[in-house]
Amino acid sequence: MRCTVGPDRRRLAAGGEKGGFKEAFAAEICSEIETLVGAPVKEWDFEAIEVAARGKALHIAALAVTRRLNSDQSDYQGPNLPCPRCGGPSRYAGRRQKSFLTVLGEMRLTRAYYHCRRCATGFCPRDQALGFQAGCLSPHVLRMVGVVGGRVSFQEGHQLLWELAGIHVATKQIERQAEQLGSEILNDERSVVEADCNGPLPPTLYLGMDGTGVPMRASELVGRRGKQQDGSAKTREVKLVSVWSAEGRDEKGLPVRDEGSVTYSAAIESAACRDVDQDISQFAQRVEREALRRRFQQAPRQAILGDGAAWIWNLASELFPDAIQIVDRYHANEHLATVAKAIYGPGTDLAEQWTHERCTELKAGNVDAVLTALAQHSIKEARLCRKYLRTNRQRMRYDSFHAAGLCTSSAVVESGCKRAVGLRLKQGGMFWTVDGANGILALRCSRLSGRFEDFWERRALRPTG
Ligand SMILES: [Zn+2]
Repeated sequence: MRCTVGPDRRRLAAGGEKGGFKEAFAAEICSEIETLVGAPVKEWDFEAIEVAARGKALHIAALAVTRRLNSDQSDYQGPNLPCPRCGGPSRYAGRRQKSFLTVLGEMRLTRAYYHCRRCATGFCPRDQALGFQAGCLSPHVLRMVGVVGGRVSFQEGHQLLWELAGIHVATKQIERQAEQLGSEILNDERSVVEADCNGPLPPTLYLGMDGTGVPMRASELVGRRGKQQDGSAKTREVKLVSVWSAEGRDEKGLPVRDEGSVTYSAAIESAACRDVDQDISQFAQRVEREALRRRFQQAPRQAILGDGAAWIWNLASELFPDAIQIVDRYHANEHLATVAKAIYGPGTDLAEQWTHERCTELKAGNVDAVLTALAQHSIKEARLCRKYLRTNRQRMRYDSFHAAGLCTSSAVVESGCKRAVGLRLKQGGMFWTVDGANGILALRCSRLSGRFEDFWERRALRPTG
């Protein structure tokens, strides 16, 4: 796909002059700009001038930096250096040239190269010193790739980098580098678990868990059972844990989620129970790490929100036996709406009225009234909903939860699934590998949770091999 806006754009000015600006412009700096751009710009419009001038300014800067770096040969550190991979000796093998993509544009750098015979490969000490840790992207370009790769499709990321920064990174390269960066964040998240002690603990902390299906490549689904008619699967479940506080109150005095208090952690991982395996599941470990970071168990009061899925409550009871368990009212209401649709037809007034009445009863903590209303209908949906209510009734004591000032339907968990997962991973035409999805999820959660800068600092300090 060709990009229409970018550094090469040279549009002619349309229409007349505005407020003498052009006149002054022409007199004062036109010649300077023309010297910089290297062409007569009198007839160009301002956008063409600014883009061309930026391109030239960056090019001049790139030349200066390249010249400076290539004339400095202090990266030669004697005939031998220890190999960063195996620790054995590596031999100086001359200076090697390589092109790097930086925010200033392409830079062709010549660096001292050391070769390790045992590893049959080599390294350049300067690459490490400059932070060119992998591939040929400069640290800041890599950061940009991380920013766009975590937010939009790789194709859109490619276009954004071009339009906003005038940098050309191929779509495939954005995909590879963003997923690679994501997998570094994934490993970092597993190994660096420090309690966030900034600010006081709120009186109540909420922890939410949810799952949502993400479309996968066929090769990732071989032998997996799913919800398709033939028993095959099209998706894998991403499991998400989020932690937040809700000390603020809305105009009705109901608790609302505190702005900026929510953090996310998500991956395609197993949440199987302890009695199956010796160790707790991968996702249980993820939940533990997130709880530790947020000091969840040190909060005076802890509440866990989720939908009715058994794995959520098994995990909650196993990890946080003292926490209050609440079925997110958002999910409970959804169940009731499904039943109403089945009884009265989708979008009908009767369905809406029935849903409204049941949700009101539920909100008042009157589970029995809802059960009675459901008992009048023998369809499968009503039966399933009764089972759901009976299983979870202790988690639906909404009257007493509300009296205790607890948040029961922040929809944080649900919107977390959309925000952290859906908006990026469930767009049309996207099919993921497990590793790719987990990398992008790690990248996205890190940014949404305000943890990316800390990771980036650790990364800059880390020795590479
Ligand atoms: Zn080696």
